[in-house]
Amino acid sequence: MKKTTTLMLGLYLLVHAAQGQSLAGFSTARSVEERQIEAMFLKLPESAAFKAHLRELTREPHLAGSPANKRVADYMEQAMRKAGFSVERPPYDLYMPLNEGEIELELVTPIRKPLNIKEYIIEGDPFSADPNAKHGWNSYSGSGDHTAEIVYANYGTKEDFEELAKLGVSVKGKIVIARYGGNFRGYKAKFAEAAGAVGLIIYTDPEDSGYMRGLVYPEGKMFNESTIQRGSLLTLDYTGDPLTPFEPALPVDGAKKVNRLSPEEVKGLHRIPVTPIGYGAAQEILGRMSGAAVPESWQGGLPFTYRLEGGPKLTVRLKVEQPKGMVRVENVIGTLVGSEFPDEWIIVGSHYDAWEFGATDPNSGTAMLLTLADALGELARQGYRPRRTIKIAHWDAEEHGILGSTEWVEQYRAELDQKGVAYFNADGACSGLSFGGSASPSLKSLLVEATRVVPYPKSDKSVYDHWNERSANKAEGPGIGNLGGGSDHLPFYAHVGIPSLSAGMGGPTMYHSAYDNFHWYETVGEPDFVAGPTVARVMGIMALRMANADALPFDVARYGKDLKMHLQTAEKAIKTYAPAFSTQQLAGKADALLQRAAQWTALLSQKLESGKLSKTQLATLNQTLISLERSFIDDKGMAYGAWYRSLYASSDPYSGYASWMLPGFLFEASLGSTRQLPELEQRHLDAFQRLDAKIARMIQILSGR
Ligand SMILES: [Zn+2]
Repeated sequence: MKKTTTLMLGLYLLVHAAQGQSLAGFSTARSVEERQIEAMFLKLPESAAFKAHLRELTREPHLAGSPANKRVADYMEQAMRKAGFSVERPPYDLYMPLNEGEIELELVTPIRKPLNIKEYIIEGDPFSADPNAKHGWNSYSGSGDHTAEIVYANYGTKEDFEELAKLGVSVKGKIVIARYGGNFRGYKAKFAEAAGAVGLIIYTDPEDSGYMRGLVYPEGKMFNESTIQRGSLLTLDYTGDPLTPFEPALPVDGAKKVNRLSPEEVKGLHRIPVTPIGYGAAQEILGRMSGAAVPESWQGGLPFTYRLEGGPKLTVRLKVEQPKGMVRVENVIGTLVGSEFPDEWIIVGSHYDAWEFGATDPNSGTAMLLTLADALGELARQGYRPRRTIKIAHWDAEEHGILGSTEWVEQYRAELDQKGVAYFNADGACSGLSFGGSASPSLKSLLVEATRVVPYPKSDKSVYDHWNERSANKAEGPGIGNLGGGSDHLPFYAHVGIPSLSAGMGGPTMYHSAYDNFHWYETVGEPDFVAGPTVARVMGIMALRMANADALPFDVARYGKDLKMHLQTAEKAIKTYAPAFSTQQLAGKADALLQRAAQWTALLSQKLESGKLSKTQLATLNQTLISLERSFIDDKGMAYGAWYRSLYASSDPYSGYASWMLPGFLFEASLGSTRQLPELEQRHLDAFQRLDAKIARMIQILSGR
C-alpha cells in the first residue's frame, strides 16, 4: 500500500514539476510541497465511503426540528469526531411550522372528488411506501378553509398578475392555480394574496419537469404525475428567523436573552392557504376549466388548451391548517484547527435538513462533506494538518428559509468579520455528473485551478476539461456563475462580505419530493456514486490551497474585471428610462482597481519567489486580504432590506433565487426611479475606494514601506 503510494506520488510530481508552475499564493518551493500534500489528499475520498454516509443520512424523512433530523445530526457528529474534528452543535429556537400540518384539497363541483396530495408508492422503491413520508406542503403557508372558483395565473410572477388584470380577470375571492418556475414560490403567494385571492395551489407542469422533458420516475429522472415539489414560502425583507432579524435566535431557555418580535409584528408572513401538488392532480382542475383560452406563452404541457378561468360551475376546496411556534434546531460544526493560523477560518458547508429523505438535496452534499472530513482528518493524522483552520458546517432549517446558517452568522458576525477567509457551499452538491459553480470574483480562479487537478470520473480528462467542453467560449475557460441567493452562502456573502462560492456536480433531480431518496439515487440518479468523491476532491483542493498558502490565493484583479461588466448591465437597465445616466466615473475607478491589482499580483509572486517576505509582512498581508471583500459592506444596506448589506451581490428580491450584482442599482432600475442614483453612485465610489486603498496598502507592505 505504502509502496504504490510513493511510486504514484513520484510520477505525479514528475508530471507537475515538468509544468514548473507555482500555485497562486505559494513560492515555487512551497508549491512543490503543497502539490505533494494534494497528491496524497486526492487518493483519499472513496465512492464506498460516500455511499455508506449517504445511505445512513437518508434512512428517514428528516425535517428540521424532527427527532429524525436529530438522529442525522448525531450521525454527523460521530462521523466528524471519528475523522478527528472537534464538533459543536449550536442550538437556536426559530419561529417555524411545528410540522407539516393538515391539508385537504378537493373538487366540490361539478363533482365531489378528493385530489391527490402525496407521491404514489413505486414498486421497488421502499422509501415511497414509508409510513413516515409526508404529504406535499409549503412551509409558512397561512391557515384557512375556502371553497372558491379557479383562476390560472401561469407562473404567478408580478408580470403574470399584471397580465391577468389587463385581461380583465379578477382573482378576488378566487383560488389561484399557478405553476412552479419563473420565480421563488413565496412570491407567487405574495402576489396572489395581494391581488385578493383566498388560496393558492402550486403545481409542477409537465412542460417544466415531466414527460415533456424525458422519461418519468421510476423509468427516468423526470417528475411523474404524483411528484410534488415541497418548499418554503418565506419572503420577508431579511433572511433568517422571522422573529429575530439581525440577531441570533438563541434558545428561549438559555442564559443570554434576545429580543424577539411577536409573530403579529412580523411584516410579510402569508395569510392565505397555499399547497403544492403534482400535475396529475392539477389536470383534474385545469382540465375542467371553461373560460377564455390563455395567451400562447401560458400554455403548459397538459393535453388540452389552458384557460384563464374555471367559471362558476367549477369550485375547489382548499384547507390548510399549519400550526406554527418555536422549534429547536441545531447546526453541527466540525473544526480542524489550523497548525499555524488557527484564527483564519475556511468554512465548507451545506444544510442537512430535508423535506423528506433528501438524497440529492441536501444530503449528497452532506455525504460529500463527511467524505471530505474523513480525508482531511487522515491527512492530519499523517502529519499534514492544514496551516489555517478548516471548518465543516452542517446547517439546519435551510429549507424553511436559510435559517440555521443565518442565525449562526448573526451570532458570530464580529468574529467572522475578523476570521472568515472564505465560505464554500455544497447544497445538494453531488446530484449528477455535470460540474458547475458560481463564485464571488476573488474565488473564481481558485475554483477553476482546483478542477484542473481533479480527474473526471471514468475518463482520462480532468473535471476542468469536462466542464470547459460545455463552455460557450472554450478559450475563455468554463463559465462560472455570479453568486447570489438560494442557499446558505447568502448570509456569509451578502450580510458579512465573506468571499463565497457554490459548486458541485448536478443533473435533473426529484427536487423537494419524496422520491428524492436513496433508491432514486442508486437506480437512476447517480448509480456509480462517483460524483461524491469527485466533488470532495475539488472542495478539498480549494480548502487546502486556501489553508496552506503563504498569501491567500484571492484573484484580486477579478474585482475590476467583473465590476466593469456589472456596471454595464446596471447602466443599460437604467438608461432605458434615464438616458443621461452614466457609470463612467465608477467604470474608471474599476479600471484603476484592475491596474493596481495587476501590479499587486506581479509584485506578490516576485516577492514570494525571493523568499524575503517576513512572517509579520505575510500576516499583515493576509489580514488585509481577508478584509478585501468587506469593502462592499455598507451598513445602510439595500432599499429592499437593510439586512442585505453587500453593495456587490444579493439575491434578486423579486425572484429570491436569482443573483443580483450591484443590487442597489438594479433595484432602483426595477422601480424606474432616478431619485437614489446620486447617493448610490457615491456609496459605490466609497466602496471601490475602500478596496483600492487596501490593495495600495498591500503593495506598500510588499515594497517594505
Ligand atoms: Zn438544499
